[in-house]
Amino acid sequence: MSLGKGIGVLTLEGSIIEVNDLEYSFGDVKAVDNISFTVQEGEIFSFLGPNGAGKSTVINILTTLLMIQKGTAKVAGYDVEKEPEKVRESIGIVFQELTLDRDMTVREILEYHGRLYSMPKTARQERIEELIKLVELEGKRDTLTRHLSGGMKRRLEIARGLMTRPKVLFMDEPTLGLDPQTRIRIWEYVKDINQQGTTIFLTTHYMDEADQLSDRISIIDHGEIIVTGKPWELKNALGQDLIYLESSDNAAASGLLKGLSSVKGIREKSKGIVVMVNVDGTYLLPEIMDLLRNGGIRVKAVNLKKPSMDDVFVHYTGREFRDEGAEKGSVAIVRAGRR
Ligand code: ADP
Ligand code: MG
Repeated sequence: MSLGKGIGVLTLEGSIIEVNDLEYSFGDVKAVDNISFTVQEGEIFSFLGPNGAGKSTVINILTTLLMIQKGTAKVAGYDVEKEPEKVRESIGIVFQELTLDRDMTVREILEYHGRLYSMPKTARQERIEELIKLVELEGKRDTLTRHLSGGMKRRLEIARGLMTRPKVLFMDEPTLGLDPQTRIRIWEYVKDINQQGTTIFLTTHYMDEADQLSDRISIIDHGEIIVTGKPWELKNALGQDLIYLESSDNAAASGLLKGLSSVKGIREKSKGIVVMVNVDGTYLLPEIMDLLRNGGIRVKAVNLKKPSMDDVFVHYTGREFRDEGAEKGSVAIVRAGRR
C-alpha cells in the first residue's frame, strides 16, 4: 500500500543517505567536524560513540530538526537543506528522550500521529492495528502512556515512528536506560522492521548494540568518524585473537614478541600488553610462553580472547571507557572529561 509518498531519485546507486563534509557548531563547541558517509538502502547503519561525540547532532540535522551550517546531506534522494518537507515525508524518528504525551492512550498517540501526516482514516486504522501487533501492545491499546513501563513506551515510540511507513527510520539511542531483556526485545523489533524493508540509521553508545544489530558501523568520536565497517570487518582487522600478558618486564616482552611473524601488533596497557595475533592464539600461546621464559621474563598473567567492539574502539581512539552505570551485560563507552 502506498500513502502517496514520492520516492526520491537516488543519486548514488543504492545509497539512501548521503552526507558530505558536514560540520556543526554550538557557539564555540564544534559538535560535528567534517563528517562524510553514505548509508545503503536496506541497511541497519549505526553511529557508535561516547556521550558528546556528536551523534544526536548528526541525526538532528538529517531529520531537519537542526539547520545545516556547512556541508550537504541527502535523505531518500532529497536535499535536507533545500527539500526539508520531502525529507520529513520520507522518514520516521525515534528520539533519544521520551516524547509521549502522558495523558494519551497508546491508540490515541498513533491516531494523532497518523492525522498529523494526513493519513486517510482506513489506512490509519489498518496501520495502527498492524503496529500495535508488531510491538506487542495489544493488551494496552487504551492504556494511558503514563501507565506504561519504560520498555513499552519505547516500543510505542517505535510504532509511532513507523506510522507513515517511512523509507528510513532514525533512532537516537533506542535502548537508552532500558534493562537487558527489554533491550534485546527492541533489537528484535528493529531487525523485523528492517527485514520488512525499512532502512535504519541508529546511534548508540552501547558496543554490544552496535555489534549485534548493525550491518555497518561508524565509530564517531569528538565529532569525527574514526572508522567505518561491518562489525566483523572491524573486529577482524585487529587480528584473529588477542593475548593479554602481564610480565616482569612488559617492554622486553613486547620487544621479543614483535619478532614473531604471527604477531600483527602490540598495544600497551597500564599493567600489561595486548598482543594482536593473526593465527589461532590457542596454539601460539605455548610458543609465546617458552619464548618469554627463555628470555628471562616471568609471566604473571595471561588471557586469550577474540577481539570485541570494545577492543575496536580502544584500538582506533586510543581510549578505553566502561560505563560503570550501565546495566549488567552491556558495555558502554563514556567520554572522560576533555583534556
Ligand atoms: P551525542 O549525541 O553523541 O551524545 P551530541 O550531538 O548531543 O552528542 O553533542 C555533541 C556536542 O555538542 C557535545 O559537546 C554537546 O555538549 C554539544 N551540544 C549538543 N547540543 C547542544 C546545544 N543545544 N547547545 C550547546 N551545545 C550542545
Ligand atoms: Mg545523543
